[in-house]
Amino acid sequence: MYGKFKEHLTNELQEIKDAGLYKSERVIVTPQSSEIEVENTNGEVLNFCANNYLGLADSPRLVEAAKKAMDNRGYGMSSVRFICGTQDLHKELEKAISDYFKTEDTILYAACFDANGGLFEPLLTEEDAIISDSLNHASIIDGVRLCKAKRFRYKNADMEDLERCLKESQDCRFRIIATDGVFSMDGNVAPMDKICELAEKYDALVMVDESHSAGVVGKTGHGVAEQFDAYGKIDIFTGTLGKAFGGAMGGFTTGRKEIIDMLRQRSRPYLFSNSVAPSIVGASIEMFKMLKENDDLHDKLVENVNYFRDKMLEAGFDIKPTQSAICAVMLYDAKLSQDFAAEMQKEGIFVTGFYYPVVPKGQARIRVQLSAAHNREQLDRAIAAFVKVGKKLGVLK
Ligand SMILES: *Cc1c(COP(=O)(O)O)cnc(C)c1O
Repeated sequence: MYGKFKEHLTNELQEIKDAGLYKSERVIVTPQSSEIEVENTNGEVLNFCANNYLGLADSPRLVEAAKKAMDNRGYGMSSVRFICGTQDLHKELEKAISDYFKTEDTILYAACFDANGGLFEPLLTEEDAIISDSLNHASIIDGVRLCKAKRFRYKNADMEDLERCLKESQDCRFRIIATDGVFSMDGNVAPMDKICELAEKYDALVMVDESHSAGVVGKTGHGVAEQFDAYGKIDIFTGTLGKAFGGAMGGFTTGRKEIIDMLRQRSRPYLFSNSVAPSIVGASIEMFKMLKENDDLHDKLVENVNYFRDKMLEAGFDIKPTQSAICAVMLYDAKLSQDFAAEMQKEGIFVTGFYYPVVPKGQARIRVQLSAAHNREQLDRAIAAFVKVGKKLGVLK
C-alpha cells in the first residue's frame, strides 16, 4: 500500500516546495541566545527571531534551578496530574502564576497549545458562542473547533466588528470573546479596555492568550491586564512558559476559580497528557521569583525595542507601529522579503521573512523579535546590516 501513498506525499511535498513554502530547519549547536552558532554557517550569528523576550533561555540561574529540581524531585512524572503526577512543585508554580497575573487559580498544561486546545470544550455547549479575533493563534482556532459552541469571527482588533458579533450572538446562553494579547505578525496589542467594555455591555466573558504579551507589555511587563488596568475584568488568561518566561516549555490557564476547577475535571489535554517535568517546573518557579525581585529585564527589553525602532525609522525603513517586542519591517513584496532575509543571513543576522498566506497578500515583511539579551553593539550590528541590505536591494535610497 505504501507505494501509492508515498507517491501522493512526494507530489504534495513537491507542490509545497514549488510554492516556495517548504520549511527547512536551521540547526543550532549552542544554547538558545542572542548570539548562536548554527550548522553550515560561518561563525556566530545574531538571533532576532526567537521568542526569547526576556533573554532567559540560557539563564545560568534557571539552569541551576532546573538541576536542583531534578536532584530533589527526579527526572519525570510518568503520570497525568490527577493520578499520581502532582508534586508540591506543580502546586507552587500554579500559585506563582496566579500571583503574577493576580488571578484566583491556575492549571498547568504541557504547552499553551494544549491550554487553548482544552479550554472551550469543557466550558461551553451548542447553546453558547465563542467570538474570536480573525488573527488568533492556531491553537485557539483548534480549541474552538473542538467545542460545539457557535462560532463568530471579527476582524483583527476591530471593535465595530466585535460589536456586530455580540449583537448577532445575543440569543446564545453564554458567550466568550477570545483574543491574543499581542498578535504575532504586526506586534499590535489587543485593545483590552474596549473589549472589556463591550463584554460588560453585552454580558460576555473575556479570554486572552498572553503568549506574546506576558513579560512584555504593561508598565512592568505583567501583560495586558496591567497595560489596560483590566484586572478583574478578564475572566481567563492562557499563556506559555516557552517564550518570555524562560523559553523551555509548558503552558497554563489562569483566572476565575470555578473555571479552573472545571478544567481540572474535564479538560482533555490536562486529563490525558503527562505532567510537566520537575526540572521545568522548578526552573519556572525560580523564574517568577526573579521577575518579582526587580523589573530590570523588562526595562532592558523596552529600551532595546525603542532603540531599534527609532534607529530603523531614522534609516528610512517602514516599520509597523509596534506595541510589543515584535517589530515588522514592511517590504510588501513576497520575493523581496525572502531575498532580504537571505541577504541578512549572509551578514550574520537571523531574521524571518513572512509573506502570504502567513500575512495578507501584498503585506510581506521581515519580522524582528527583540530580546532583553541583545546588547547595544548587537543591535547596532543588526541595524547596520539592515541598512546595507536595504540599499543593495533598493529598499532604501
Ligand atoms: C506560541 C503561542 C502558543 C503556543 O505556545 P506553546 O506553549 O509553545 O504551545 C499559543 N498561543 C499563542 C498566541 C502563541 O503565540
